[in-house]
Amino acid sequence: MVSTGSTNESFEYAPAPESRGIVDIKASYGLFIDGKFVDGRGEAFKSVNPATEEVLAEVSEANEADVDAAVKAARKAQRGWARMPGAERAKYLFRIARIIQERSREIAVLESIDNGKPIKESRDVDIPLAAAYFFYYAGWADKLEYSGFGSTPLGVAGQVIPWNFPFLMLSWKIAPALACGNTVVLKPAETTPLTALLFAEICQQADLPPGVVNILTGAGSTGQALVSHPDVDKVAFTGSTAVGRAIAQSVAGSEKRVTLELGGKAANIVFDDAPIDQAVEGIVNGIFFNQGHVCCAGSRLLVQESVAEDVLERLKRRMGTLRLGDPLDKNTDVGAINSAAQLSRIRELSAVGEEEGAERWSAPCELPSNGFWFPPTLFTGVSQAHRIAREEIFGPVLSVLTFRTPAEAVAKANNSPYGLSAGIWTEKGSRILQVASELRAGVIWANTFNKFDPTSPFGGYKESGYGREGGRHGLEAYLR
Ligand code: NAD
Repeated sequence: MVSTGSTNESFEYAPAPESRGIVDIKASYGLFIDGKFVDGRGEAFKSVNPATEEVLAEVSEANEADVDAAVKAARKAQRGWARMPGAERAKYLFRIARIIQERSREIAVLESIDNGKPIKESRDVDIPLAAAYFFYYAGWADKLEYSGFGSTPLGVAGQVIPWNFPFLMLSWKIAPALACGNTVVLKPAETTPLTALLFAEICQQADLPPGVVNILTGAGSTGQALVSHPDVDKVAFTGSTAVGRAIAQSVAGSEKRVTLELGGKAANIVFDDAPIDQAVEGIVNGIFFNQGHVCCAGSRLLVQESVAEDVLERLKRRMGTLRLGDPLDKNTDVGAINSAAQLSRIRELSAVGEEEGAERWSAPCELPSNGFWFPPTLFTGVSQAHRIAREEIFGPVLSVLTFRTPAEAVAKANNSPYGLSAGIWTEKGSRILQVASELRAGVIWANTFNKFDPTSPFGGYKESGYGREGGRHGLEAYLR
């Protein structure tokens, strides 16, 4: 029951779910190689809706022979694609971008069903941004000589992406690669393959020459076969630091070029002069957007001691209003955790937080009985040595630490093996500049959080990886 506020009346909550009718999920899917869907030679696996545990489809697991076939198709297509005038390549990218816009509702609904993220995020963030990346890199295709990185493509790119932003990460990988004249073999994550397969249909619809984009579904062994294939010139990986490290070792000593976009443990720093209500919105956006399955999530809140009590009180109040539930409901703020495995990792690390002596508070909300769910949660009394302050939880869990001076805030923020992103909340422009210049993070937001734009490079320091995606800098990874 929700009170209307102005009168004593109250009303039942009325769900507003987006219709699922727009998506056509097939019972089973093959692999997309050389412009066609073909049967995979490996075992099939199931993709599951994490909000209901319903099996959505059977998907092929590509084996080594499939990887080889896809790399061969990409190699065969590469010369023609690279020789095509940039302005012609651009037309394909513009066409793909427009089709993404035209089919955006369908892609967004499918993304929310397969991933568990709220429809308002897939509809308003993931899919419009994916189209924007294709539009942006389409514009570069005939201007590569002005990029500062030359205009010679690397060749065939093997690309492996995670499950947290399946369609958006695909666009980050494929758009710059194609604009530069490379061809690609992309492997989506095993729990979220469906929108990548829909993208394969979009490539057909755009009449993209066969072999320019190949999509292989499968798990870690498929990814491993792809990145270690001898005829792949470039490896682009987004995922966990552990797998990134293994990939870096496996390609060491080869001619392959590598970019790694890995984990993070961002500090979101709130100074005492910050506009507190806006900061609270930024903290909520920083850690509860996409259930906290965000590499640059603001998972460590550093709040100045003098305002800590006030900030925490307002934050808890705001967390109490977050609506958790059906990802397809347009009012949902927090959707499902992507998989049973991820849920158990979140539970495990949260239990460690309590064992280490931090105090746990979870927003009072009812969790659906089916599917994978975790309530928005914060930990206070966290020290820097705690595992919940050091390790990536990759879920809706915030660790709160306090500081007294700007120097202490910077020292605590930098005391992390990661260095992907950070947030600063203060009224003083001079303080923003000073603190930002001392933070070891690839992306720093001031008085906002989780803002993305195709013109802006994104990437990390230290264990967050190397290389940049987005903007002019993102071209460097795909040019010789
Ligand atoms: P993961 O590393 O387990 O999996 C990522 C992808 O790698 C999947 O497609 C998986 O099948 C594949 N893979 C697994 N083992 C492999 C191997 N040995 N060789 C090649 N490929 C292999 O990560 P995840 O759990 O899917 O994703 C979450 C992680 O991704 C988090 O750590 C998060 O911070 C990170 N991430 C980083 C960014 C960024 O831009 N820095 C963006 C999104 C996610």
